[in-house]
Amino acid sequence: MNAPFAATALEQLRAEYASAPTDLFIDGKFVPAASGKSFEVEDPATGQVFAHAAAGDAADIDAAVKAARRALEGAWAKTNPAQRARLLTRLADLIERDGERIALTESLDNGMPFMMAKFAGVFGASEQLRYNAGWATKIAGETIEPSSPGEWHCFTLREPVGVVGAIVPWNFPFVMAVAKIAPALAAGCTVVLKPAEQTPLSAAYLGKLIAEAGFPEGVVNIVTGMGETAGAAIVDHMGVDKVSFTGSTSVGKLIVKNSTGNLKRVSLELGGKSPVMIFADADLAKAIPAAAMGIFGNAGQVCAAGSRLFVHEKVYDQVVEGVQGMAKALKVGPGLSPDTQMGPLVSAEQLTRVLGYVESGAGEGATVSVGGSRIEGEGYFVQPTVLTGTAAGMKVVEEEIFGPVLSVMKFGDEEIDVIAARANATEYGLSSRIWTRDISTALKLAKRLKAGGVMINGGAGVDPAMPLGGYKQSGWGRENGKAGVEAYTEIKSVTVAL
Ligand code: ADP
Repeated sequence: MNAPFAATALEQLRAEYASAPTDLFIDGKFVPAASGKSFEVEDPATGQVFAHAAAGDAADIDAAVKAARRALEGAWAKTNPAQRARLLTRLADLIERDGERIALTESLDNGMPFMMAKFAGVFGASEQLRYNAGWATKIAGETIEPSSPGEWHCFTLREPVGVVGAIVPWNFPFVMAVAKIAPALAAGCTVVLKPAEQTPLSAAYLGKLIAEAGFPEGVVNIVTGMGETAGAAIVDHMGVDKVSFTGSTSVGKLIVKNSTGNLKRVSLELGGKSPVMIFADADLAKAIPAAAMGIFGNAGQVCAAGSRLFVHEKVYDQVVEGVQGMAKALKVGPGLSPDTQMGPLVSAEQLTRVLGYVESGAGEGATVSVGGSRIEGEGYFVQPTVLTGTAAGMKVVEEEIFGPVLSVMKFGDEEIDVIAARANATEYGLSSRIWTRDISTALKLAKRLKAGGVMINGGAGVDPAMPLGGYKQSGWGRENGKAGVEAYTEIKSVTVAL
């Protein structure tokens, strides 16, 4: 198979990354970290350092927050909604223009297959911008009739919440970054973005496109750096009005604790342990590959990964054999090899974590029916893994693994409430999937599931129009859709006595 990108483009990009660290983007300028320090960036397919990024810390965050505040009160406040919409659309065009470069960067940095980087990353990002550009001109308050004695004219205003600190993870670095910036800018906020230290490069490039699109200085600032320094400084900063975070539940909890200084608003999109339920009457030709790719896609490093598979006993053998067959057949390799279907895990730390879970599952009595091992050689590759004989109470069933490890369980003709209770037996509540041709079963279950998302007989992936977020410990608030853009606003009630 031919590579879906130009080999020369990859060579140039590698040379560029080898030549100098990427800069921070603060107040419209590309600058090194104030400390002069940079950090190493690894290619997870080889474990080799191929780039360096500026190591921003509290001093750089402070400069970025001040620039964002000036822009919020200055040039950005003067733009009207239509101008904001046009800028967002222009940025979408530039992202598509440079899609190959961005996807190559993403694949080198995160390890994901190039085509996934292109579709989920590049087009996912430009669609976020186009969708939210539409909202810029449609954010509105309402008029309200109060019941107090007298005659009134009362209405609400939706105002930008202010300076937003956006902290994003490494699993889909580019689209995550853009999905935070787009609604915030549409709502009239300014942003300080911190990408994950494992994958800083596509966000660093985003700064170049933001400058080229013509956003006023300071509207978006991008500070690469460590979570414990740069990330913590955003959360701590009294000049940040809202933190929007996507990442692990443990860091999410830390952010809640550390954001009390100015009681900044906090949105959290956290972990999951999402159930997939396949009933006996399901369309198995669709359900089986969807169940497999729902956990092996992006090597399971997906917050909404379908990591707990519940199968009706009548179709259990057929489904499990189907998923096992796909797990064995998947081409695991570097994201930039054209036939790769699953890339490496992002880091050595993640590899250790995932293998640790497999070992713990085996220790608690699960059967490692397929996979379960590291793929020897360079890079952080692990085999797609299917654990059978798993049960409630095992760590592999209760905790988020964030790797290509599926726990399979069986159900019978129990009441719908019993099945729902098993699906809900987790501290998370992000996503869920149901496969059945019986509409009543599907909708009864959909009502009973404690999850922010329910996909029946297939899902559209992440769509910028569909609210995304979690019940329980999967988060606070929703991203995407109207709720997603309104999350970047404050409501002001204006009461006029006539
Ligand atoms: P994971 O555990 O999957 O690596 P994290 O939740 O640790 O994901 O990371 C998500 C993002 O949160 C990254 O950008 C990371 O740098 C940042 N981060 C990590 N620790 C902190 C912290 N103490 N305060 C703020 N941000 C943090």
